[in-house]
Amino acid sequence: MEYRIMGPTGLPLSEVSFGSWITFGNQIDARVSAGLMEFAYDRGVNFFDNAETYAHGHSEEVMGQILQAKGWSRDTWCVSSKVFFGAGGQAPTQRGLHRKHIIEACHAALRRLRVEYLDLYMCHRPDKKTPIEETVWTMHQLIQQGKILYWGTSEWSAAEILEAHRIAALHHLIGPVVEQPQYNALVREKMEAEYLDVFRTVGMGTTTWSPLASGVLTGKYLKGGAEAHRLGREELRWLADRLLTPETAAKVEGWVGLASENGLTPAQLGILWCLRNPHVTTVLLGASNLAQLRENLDALDHKGRVDARTWEAVDALFGNRPILPAY
Ligand code: NDP
Repeated sequence: MEYRIMGPTGLPLSEVSFGSWITFGNQIDARVSAGLMEFAYDRGVNFFDNAETYAHGHSEEVMGQILQAKGWSRDTWCVSSKVFFGAGGQAPTQRGLHRKHIIEACHAALRRLRVEYLDLYMCHRPDKKTPIEETVWTMHQLIQQGKILYWGTSEWSAAEILEAHRIAALHHLIGPVVEQPQYNALVREKMEAEYLDVFRTVGMGTTTWSPLASGVLTGKYLKGGAEAHRLGREELRWLADRLLTPETAAKVEGWVGLASENGLTPAQLGILWCLRNPHVTTVLLGASNLAQLRENLDALDHKGRVDARTWEAVDALFGNRPILPAY
């Protein structure tokens, strides 16, 4: 396992990490979840990702029980939570990035994850109703109180991230240091175009999500049988509608061929594709069973196997490499 420094901080995160969306507290049971975390930790993964909204807080509860039961030394791993969507409550105060919800959500995450502090705490989406200044002050105060160590954003625009930094600099507050965007061969605009000025100026780290586009880039949906997998779940019909199209299927067929030419599985090609971008601090993996996680972590044994011609073939296949201004 190699470790990459998270943006402008000194924090080393494993180049791949492990997240719990859809799986923990929902699709898989606690025993399988524990086996996955143990396998990841033993292979050098030092960052586990979570959020208040995952399984309405149950994902954090399951992860907290596992962290407590394993008893791994607290200074060997990092855990995150994310705030914005709430944990299922319907009251207007139970979501958002205003001071009340951030503080209450942080306390709830600490309780559910059974930790004294969160290593990373991220704003899961921008909140158009709360002034960014209120969010920056609140995150700074949580750091001062020792309840979180670093704070960040997820799927914010470059303009919103830079505004948070402007406010932080103005008041000598600690600004966001990490962003969590989607990044895979199907979705690359933010990481490869929009955020370039952010990387050049304030230098955010990134914990990128859905490296396999929820499993689509493994090629398994080409064979049908979606009901056995994530995109067959009723709650994710909106995502299946977006991803399981004939156009995407045609491209994924080519992708599967490229993986095979390189002696890799399509999942492994997907993870190596993300890792080739130096602005990625850590690629967040997801898995619903041990065989998947093993296959995905084994990708790290094949770094250097894929040459530039293959990456160019990926660009040509998907036709979505951002075109940057020439000046
Ligand atoms: P992926 O795109 O890698 O999807 C993971 C899913 O794909 C698995 O649960 C499994 O689903 C399937 N899969 C994974 N590996 C294989 C394999 N080798 N062979 C076959 N199927 C496989 O990642 P996620 O979408 O899970 O994202 C990773 C993490 O990123 C999340 O857990 C979460 O922590 C974070 N995230 C953050 C978001 C944000 O808004 N900030 C949004 C989404 C994720 P199945 O077995 O059911 O088919």
